[in-house]
This record gives sequence, structure tokens and C-alpha cells, in this order.
Amino acid sequence: MSERTALYEGKAKIVYASESPDELVLHFKDDTSAFDGEKVEQLAHKGEINNAFNTFIMEYLQGEGVPTHFIRRLNARESLVRRLEMIPVECVVRNRAAGSLSKRLGIEEGRILEPPTLEFFLKNDALHDPMINTSHIRTFGWATTEEVEAMRRWTMRVNILLSALFAKANLILVDFKLEFGRFDGELYLGDEFSPDGCRLWDARSLEKMDKDRFRRNLGGVVEAYIEVARRLGVPLPAVS
Ligand code: ADP
Ligand code: UDP
Repeated sequence: MSERTALYEGKAKIVYASESPDELVLHFKDDTSAFDGEKVEQLAHKGEINNAFNTFIMEYLQGEGVPTHFIRRLNARESLVRRLEMIPVECVVRNRAAGSLSKRLGIEEGRILEPPTLEFFLKNDALHDPMINTSHIRTFGWATTEEVEAMRRWTMRVNILLSALFAKANLILVDFKLEFGRFDGELYLGDEFSPDGCRLWDARSLEKMDKDRFRRNLGGVVEAYIEVARRLGVPLPAVS
């Protein structure tokens, strides 16, 4: 087998070129990072679980009419996606206060946010992903007014779809981050949706079932991801 070309290695994934110039392979690593990459650990099987989890969520969203980059899962750790020109903006929706919002505004963790908030962050590790507004996005040309409106609409739609999906699994979708990109003049949801990029709490105990277990050294990180996947009915690869 010939060596593949890694186009980019990020904190959680490696992006490979594929046989088609319009498609990429996303390889999900076990690497888990927090605090701008200050804390990094390898968590056995996390890559396989997130690849399976992301496949389930992307296929669900696609079935509900959300345009996504997802094409198909290739193997335990890899999926084929449409190659996008990524927009360097992270779209974060919050249904409850947590994380940086609680810290920034002094809101107690867990407060229900009605209506849910939508925030934009610039995807820039060196600047620690600063919060930005739609005016910054327009002025600095990160996206057009139409793209911002489409990102807002799709992110809120994903929130409605996934909040209901997780609620059926007795989980609260506290917040999550989405990334979008362009292909042929159209906007698509890109990157991944997994417990690495969202907060999920058990509906009864409010126990954390997401990457906050890693951020806060609570232990049982992969076990929590597996439990979330099991409740949703995500087919998981055999991991021991
Ligand atoms: P990070 O870059 O934040 O460390 P990852 O390790 O997850 O994150 O790397 C995956 C990279 O691939 C991200 O920079 C993401 O924006 C990019 N990406 C995700 N989906 C696509 C896509 N369909 N086309 C091009 N790039 C993508
Ligand atoms: N998030 C993410 N990548 C980032 C920043 C945030 O996936 O680079 C997710 C994070 O997991 C959470 C939501 O976006 O589900 C909101 O994160 P927050 O702004 O509270 O930042 P944090 O305190 O998690 O750094």
C-alpha cells in the first residue's frame, strides 16, 4: 500500500488526501486535549468511539435535511468526507450555562438559557479561540452575511434536532460547537460531532458524560462516551 499524504494533523484528527481531489479522509486519534492543547492524553479507543459516534450523528442530521460533509465511514478510525474550504469560525449553542460562558459572565453552571444562546469564536489556537461577533466576521471577511445567516440557521436547527435526540436517551445537550465550510458555493456542516465537542449531562443525576470528565480529571472518560453511545443506539466497534 502506498504512503498516504497527511494534509494536516490537528489535536484530535489527521486529515488525509483521498483518491478524489474533492474528498478527504478524517482519521480519529485517541489524543484528547484541553486548555488549548496544554493538557494532552491518549485515551485508548476514543478515536474509534468518536468515529462511530460522529457517523451516527452526521447520518442522522443528513436524514433530517442538514447539509453535511459526511460521505461514509471507511473503517474503525476513518471516515470519508467532502473536502470543504473551512470557515474559521466555531459556532457554539448553549442550552444551559457552563464552561467559558459561566466564567465570562458569572452565571452559575446549569442555569437554563431560554432562549438558547449562539456565540461565535475565531478558530485560532495561537489567539486562544477568542469570541467574535458577526460584525467581526463580515469586516475581516471570514464569511459573508449570507453564510453567517446560514450558519446561524443550521446551528439552531441542529440544536433542536439533537436536543430531542439526546433527551430520548435521558441526556441533556448542554452546549456544543459546530464548524462549517464551503463546497461549490454551498455551505456544509463539517468537522465532527462527538462528546469531545459538546457537553452532555445525565438527565436525572446531571452527571457529566462528555470531555469535561477529562478537563476536570473526573476519570471514566471513554466509559462515559461508551455509555452515551449505548443509550443512543450507536453501533460501536468491539473495544475491550
Ligand atoms: P484542530 O484543528 O482544532 O486541532 P482536529 O484535530 O479535529 O482539530 O483537526 C481536524 C481539522 O480538519 C480541523 O482543522 C477542521 O477544521 C478540519 N476539517 C474538518 N472537516 C473538514 C472538511 N470537510 N474539509 C476540510 N477540512 C476539514
Ligand atoms: N468547544 C469545542 N472546541 C473548542 C471550544 C469549545 O469543541 O475549541 C465546545 C466545548 O466542548 C463545549 C462548547 O464548545 O461543548 C462550549 O465551550 P466553552 O466556550 O464553554 O469552552 P470550554 O470551557 O469548553 O473551553
